[in-house]
Amino acid sequence: PEVPVGAILAGSARRYRDRVAFARGGEELTYSELGRRAARFAGGLLARGVSRGDRVALRMPNCLEYPVAYYGTLLAGAVFVPVNPLLPEPAAARQIADAGAVLVVTAAEVPSICEGHPELPPEVEIDVRTDLAHLAYTGGTTGESKGVRLSHRNVVVNTLQYACWGTGSLPALDSDGGLVLDQVGDESEWPTRLGTAVAVNLTPWFHAMGTVAGLNALLLCGYSTVLHDRLDPAAYLADVQRLRVTSMGGAPALFAALLACPDIATTDLSSVRAISSGAAPMPVEMIRRLRELAPDAVISEGYGLTEVTMGATLGPTHRSGLRKPGTVGVPIFDTEVRVTGHDGEPLPAGERGEVCIRGPQVMAGYHNRPDATDEVLRDGWLHTGDVGVLDEDGYLSIVDRMKDMLLYKGYNVYPRELEELLAAHPAVLAAAVVGRPDQAVGELPVAFVVPADRSVSAEDLMGAVNEQVVAYKRLREVHFVDQIPISAAGKVLKRELRGRLVDVP
Ligand code: ATP
Repeated sequence: PEVPVGAILAGSARRYRDRVAFARGGEELTYSELGRRAARFAGGLLARGVSRGDRVALRMPNCLEYPVAYYGTLLAGAVFVPVNPLLPEPAAARQIADAGAVLVVTAAEVPSICEGHPELPPEVEIDVRTDLAHLAYTGGTTGESKGVRLSHRNVVVNTLQYACWGTGSLPALDSDGGLVLDQVGDESEWPTRLGTAVAVNLTPWFHAMGTVAGLNALLLCGYSTVLHDRLDPAAYLADVQRLRVTSMGGAPALFAALLACPDIATTDLSSVRAISSGAAPMPVEMIRRLRELAPDAVISEGYGLTEVTMGATLGPTHRSGLRKPGTVGVPIFDTEVRVTGHDGEPLPAGERGEVCIRGPQVMAGYHNRPDATDEVLRDGWLHTGDVGVLDEDGYLSIVDRMKDMLLYKGYNVYPRELEELLAAHPAVLAAAVVGRPDQAVGELPVAFVVPADRSVSAEDLMGAVNEQVVAYKRLREVHFVDQIPISAAGKVLKRELRGRLVDVP
């Protein structure tokens, strides 16, 4: 349906009414109360002179005010600009200026903006195809983040692509034009059966996975979402058991932390029906362990980037139950994925190349960066900068980011392959591989490892990995660390690790 993002809130507020939408600490926000507050927030923005197309920056952590301000901004016809609240001042100021935001809103200001305004959304015209809903910034993992222009249609489509394929439902409009899901599949088969769906959320809403999966899709499916302010694995697991949580979603770093927590062995995970990962590669070993602990849960992995609103693939899906651990599944509906060679021509199955995506969730372009836009958007295809390979069944595997690939005497070395081998070693909790520049050969693979067992030596690990790979891929150094640096969006900060190599000669 061609509806604005606000239709997701409208449909859910009417359908789920007194159900808790979000809870944090002892506080709760019901679906209908969220609908009323968001409408009042929209009224407050209009009263402050904000008009259609104006950018409104939200600078706050996940909290009960966030969805009020998010949907309120969109109901006012304004553009949501998420700002990571942990971003240091100069970087945040650069982003806000780049976006041309007319207003920056913090959590504390939300109630006063809502004050005294009507509980029904204002009448504003929105062209869902051309009006922006989000001006979202990329993770900044590989460099300065870029503003991505996403229309209402982009956001609604991508939300539906995941919510529908995940649940086996079709979208429908209620009598007032609100977006709802028709549960057409066999309800008993799927985790998000309405009325019993509970999630714990840590995924930041200032990032793609947060706004699409963590806000819009969960709301559309009628979830009650419990917010945690920070990752405390023991507290997370305690809530999973106490609240009979049905869905656990996040970046692999979340699951790594849960698996490393001793409480996992005694936590009752029988309520969990869905475990969904995205944003970074999920090691096969992690999938194996999660499956052992929660045998009834569907463990799925999606792949995407801010430039496609959030995602382009999913596996397994409601439709295709085929599991292929280590892949990111198949393209979601209405989406095409191909892998191209240096000349831009599509490669046959089994060959590695650049992952390209075409579909209704692909951005209109970057904000203020026509050159960068032309570089990645060519002939309707988004060039992702990720190296991938499609198999005969159309399943995509992400080999690595092109920018993270190492070159050893002219051979390509993909750190992810070495990271998978390290992750499969019982003495390893987490690992990341980067290249040490070397005048003679190009780059040498070096691992940073968080040990699970302190008695393991660098030689042991290098021996175990190197006997499984050809000579040019061999690890040359292993450094033990307490933690692998991870971005707020859950991605390993390889820039930072490369920087450390300068200090570790
Ligand atoms: P920047 O472009 O600013 O450096 P970024 O690439 O981290 O930041 P995001 O849009 O947050 O920007 O992240 C998208 C990237 O995350 C993808 O291009 C891909 O490299 C990685 N990614 C996402 N999901 C997966 C996955 N399931 N497996 C492997 N990599 C993934």
